[in-house]
Amino acid sequence: PSILLKIDDLEFKTREFIQSKKLAKSTSSATYTIPVVIHIIHNGEPIGTGTNISDIQALSQITRLNEDFRKMNADALNSTHPYYAIQADCEIEFCLAVRDPAGNSTTGILRYNKMQPSWTIAQIDSTVKPSTIWNRNNYMNIWSINIQDPNSPGVDGFGTFPSSTSDTTDGVVIANWVFGTVGGVKSIVGTHEVGHYLNLKHVWGDNQPNCGDDLVSDTPPSSEPNSGCPTFPHNPNDSCGTGPNGDIFMNYMDYSDAICTVMFTTGQKDRMQATLSTVRSSFLLNNIEPAYL
Ligand code: ZN
Ligand code: CA
Repeated sequence: PSILLKIDDLEFKTREFIQSKKLAKSTSSATYTIPVVIHIIHNGEPIGTGTNISDIQALSQITRLNEDFRKMNADALNSTHPYYAIQADCEIEFCLAVRDPAGNSTTGILRYNKMQPSWTIAQIDSTVKPSTIWNRNNYMNIWSINIQDPNSPGVDGFGTFPSSTSDTTDGVVIANWVFGTVGGVKSIVGTHEVGHYLNLKHVWGDNQPNCGDDLVSDTPPSSEPNSGCPTFPHNPNDSCGTGPNGDIFMNYMDYSDAICTVMFTTGQKDRMQATLSTVRSSFLLNNIEPAYL
């Protein structure tokens, strides 16, 4: 019940934020900068080997996030695409923390030998996160870890929604094998999970096949998650009311392959900025300068 209350409260605040943004008709833009700490959970391998991913790979995740949330990705929709008009520069940026919780300088990349080759989701939430997390009000915590969960086979990441999280579990988990850019291969797992962290739902609204609602007005309704790389338009004018352009399968919050998943929408941007202006406002630059300086 308390989670439902929090969800309702944030939805109310989100509608308020979007409404006031519309009324203000403001052309000015504010960039939201999120300080990040990356916790690399490994099994004693040398740095750059196996689960003990290199600094370069860790940094590539920050680069990926900045490209995707600033519409700087090289594969963004071009101006002839019907969904180009709603493709958003979310004006959200990410930087590695330069001060740890005690105020000492840090690279923002932490390594822990937890002497275990792989972890279930429950183990990560009950053991790994509580023993490593930095104050969630001051940092977005990201973990790189080998997720192997027989109850959820194939899961390669998970992010906490702002209304159903806790001080010991809040943050984004990304499997080491899809962390950032691995061997030149694009991954959008981090981008997708940070979307959840900033209160985005899946574009199909998690109610397949019943045309669920993601509470974002400019994403068309769709009946189910997509996979692979569909051909545009996919499922146009279907019974959910997709319209002539069909599913927005190229959105980061669908399940299509990374190489054809390239954009957030303006509606999603508003929803994420509403979260950063309310329940996740505490770590923004002007509030916690020490994390950056
Ligand atoms: Zn998801
Ligand atoms: Ca929608």
